[in-house]
Amino acid sequence: MNSVVFQSKRVAKLTFSEPVKQAVRQRARGKCECARNTCPHYGPCKAPGTEFHQKLATVTEGEETRACQLLCKACHQQAHASSGSLGRM
Ligand SMILES: [Zn+2]
Ligand SMILES: [Zn+2]
Ligand SMILES: [Zn+2]
Repeated sequence: MNSVVFQSKRVAKLTFSEPVKQAVRQRARGKCECARNTCPHYGPCKAPGTEFHQKLATVTEGEETRACQLLCKACHQQAHASSGSLGRM
């Protein structure tokens, strides 16, 4: 019985635990942490952050907060649309 084997080399979508989300939200002060130059905003976005984005392809234990980024919806979409190596997440 191997019909429902879920094969994924990478974690497609990591679910961040509540403490991690809290730490990230605190670090970001509730604001979008995006500062990518592919976005319409120049410099830090600072819109209210509503979504958590996994910015590292692999997440080591204890590094979850570093791998997690608080983004607003627009930037999160942009992050996935424009990411090269981290695409397909
Ligand atoms: Zn994301
Ligand atoms: Zn943003
Ligand atoms: Zn942005």
